[in-house]
Formats: sequence, structure tokens, C-alpha cells
Amino acid sequence: MEESSLEVSVALQALRTASRLCQKIRKDLATGATMQKSDRSPVTIADYGSQAIICKSIREAFPEDGVVAEENSAELRKPAHSKILDQVTGYVRDYFPNTSPDEVCSWIDFGLHSIKNRFWALDPIDGTKGYLRGDQYAIALALIENGVVQLGLMACPNLHVEIDRPRGEKGCLFFALRGEGSFQMGMEGDERRILSVSRTGDPAEASFAESVEPDHADHLVHRSISERLKIPRAPLKVDSQVKYGLVARGEVTFYLRVPSRSEPGYQEWIWDHASGAILAEEAGGKVTDLYDKPLDFSCGTRLERNHGILASNGILHEKILKALEM
Ligand code: AMP
Ligand code: MG
Repeated sequence: MEESSLEVSVALQALRTASRLCQKIRKDLATGATMQKSDRSPVTIADYGSQAIICKSIREAFPEDGVVAEENSAELRKPAHSKILDQVTGYVRDYFPNTSPDEVCSWIDFGLHSIKNRFWALDPIDGTKGYLRGDQYAIALALIENGVVQLGLMACPNLHVEIDRPRGEKGCLFFALRGEGSFQMGMEGDERRILSVSRTGDPAEASFAESVEPDHADHLVHRSISERLKIPRAPLKVDSQVKYGLVARGEVTFYLRVPSRSEPGYQEWIWDHASGAILAEEAGGKVTDLYDKPLDFSCGTRLERNHGILASNGILHEKILKALEM
């Protein structure tokens, strides 16, 4: 696949539109005194809206492809949720006027496809808690062919553009093509930069990222690995696949996800890793599970044959895995 291919332009455009919708909903509904901490309706509305827009775009351009996505419309179609459906439809109409609630549901359900030789994996909002907090989240879309991720894209509306200016301009659009590299763009415009991972082989210069949620990764094990390697910096806690983006652009040296003890046997969803993994790999990094096995995207919607995740700059990969064995 090439940068100029239709897949890339359709996917980038879909992610841009979905990002605008998510940011608008966050601004309208999740700010100020009206928002209660336990109210998850903004993320629910944005999740459905984002999936509807992206599935519509893929369906129109590539009707033969399937999309495998996190949401479906079953709940949304229930009479008790008609207000939510109306809100989703209202936001979708900002981009596709005259859309009916029924069309919104049918676009969402294009994401119900089973796995085919060629299909798209979609997480319409990865990092829902980060989204609600106004912090990091990603809209993640990946094209998988015969079990191999060929194209991965991630829109990260709240991520700073320049590594050394965390308080500067925000909004990054990442994409990676198998064999062609990883790139970062702004939310608008065509300018892109090539990404590459950190070159350090010295743990004293290393830093790493982990989930914010202690239920999603074992922070205590992370800490003991960090101590064994004598990594001086505390881990950066970041929601969503933005962590892979940080590895790809060399902002952290690695991203570690040791399975949490709170849910033994948890298997990772493909849409939580497909986009991010190719991004880190094509930037020169290495992505495996904790037994040094490549992530296997050929087993369905879960990474059934993998245990935990390590995405690193490659140079430090073996050392980190060794520290885990001790
Ligand atoms: P993160 O932002 O890194 O915390 O990852 C967010 C993703 O973690 C969500 O999209 C969920 O699909 C996934 N998740 C949910 N439960 C677990 C769990 N017990 N272990 C690992 N990941 C989980
Ligand atoms: Mg997710």
C-alpha cells in the first residue's frame, strides 16, 4: 500500500471528521457545572457518532471490506435510549445533513462484521476516561489483511504536536503503512513528518508510558522492572493508544502493559493495539508480548495468543524482557 492510495485518504478524512465530532461533543456536554462525574453520556454519544461516521466512510469507499468495531446499535435502538439516539443523530448531521436516526444505526452496525481476509478494526474512542477528563484519547482505525496490519491510523486530538512543547499546540494525526514508515500530521493540512523511535540503549536515559487505569496494567510490576533497570524517571501515565504514538516519535523509550491481576485471563482486543503497534514498528521500534512473541492479529477480535504488551525502541527490548523474567 502507498501513501497515495484511496485507503489512506478515505481513512484520514474519516478520522478528521470523527475527531471534530468528538471534540465538539466534549465541549458541549462534558464541561462546566452541568457535568456530573458519573455521567458517561458524552462519551456514549461521541462513541456512537464517531463509529457511525467512520463506518459510513469505509462502507461507501470499500463496500466489500468489513469493519470490526467496538460498538453496535442494539442498545441505541431501544425506546428508552431515544434521546441519546437523537443527540447522536444531531451531531452526525453537522457533517452529513438530513441523516436519519435509522441511517445512523445502520452505519454503526456496519461495524458488526465478522473477520474477513481484509477488514478494518476500529476503536471509535480509545481511552474513554481520558476523553471525559479532557485528557488523552485516540480514534484508532487499522486495515488488517490476512492477519497482518497493513495500515494503521490514530487521531489524537488532545496530544501536543511538538515533543518538547507539552503545553503547545494540540492535535495529532498519525498513520503508518507497512514497509513505508510512520508519519505525524496536524489535524488539518497535508504536511507530514517522518517518525522515528528513540535511539537510546542506556536505561539511565530511558522513560516509559503505562495506562492510567491500574486495572488495565500491573503498575507494581512495572515499577519493579523500572527499578531493576535503574530507570530514573517515573512512568508517564497516559490513556489510550497515544502511548504507542509516544514510542513512535521517541518521546518515551517504551510502553509496557503487564496484565493486571484484577482480571486474570483478560485478552486484549485487536482494536486496542492494531493501529498503535504498526505505528511503533514502522518508526523503527519493536512490538511483542511479554514472551517476545509478535502480536498475532489472526485469531479474531482478541489477541488470544499473546500475553501483555511491550512496544519499545527495539534497542532496549531484550533488556526489558529479561528484567521481567527475574
Ligand atoms: P488504556 O487506555 O491503556 O488503559 O487502555 C484502554 C483499553 O483497555 C480499553 O479500550 C479497554 O478495551 C481495555 N481494557 C479493559 N479492561 C482491561 C483489562 N482488564 N486489562 C487490560 N485492558 C483492558
Ligand atoms: Mg479501546
